[in-house]
Amino acid sequence: MKCNKVHNKLIFFLEKELSVSEMEQVQKHLNECSECALFAAEMKNTLRILDSDKVTDENPFFFTRVKARLEKQSQEEPVARPVLIRILQPVAFSIILLLGIYGGFKLGQTPKVAITDSSLSEQEMVPYWNELQDEPIESFLME
Ligand SMILES: [Zn+2]
Repeated sequence: MKCNKVHNKLIFFLEKELSVSEMEQVQKHLNECSECALFAAEMKNTLRILDSDKVTDENPFFFTRVKARLEKQSQEEPVARPVLIRILQPVAFSIILLLGIYGGFKLGQTPKVAITDSSLSEQEMVPYWNELQDEPIESFLME
């Protein structure tokens, strides 16, 4: 299997949505190719971040932390309102962005055959992953 093909199948591989033989082929390639293994590790990490982001609905911790941060800010500054807006805007934007990207991938997975055989090239995917890698939402909030 070629690197390019592995990259296209990687997200399905990580979500264990390939056939057994394809899973084996990708795994075999990752064992032999450090470049793809690195890419797989990065993508896995990104998926983990997105997954943990996804469960925040049931997990109040994330919001507790944001709330605590907002309260801290409003104590420090008497003019609370502009501060809230300044903080909430980029936070909301990142969440929407992340959900949008993740949603896009989820959506793209449905017609499995069409995507693996054609268009979704690594050039299109890599900048997204790199961007997420550079600024995961956790560190963004904790800055
Ligand atoms: Zn490779």
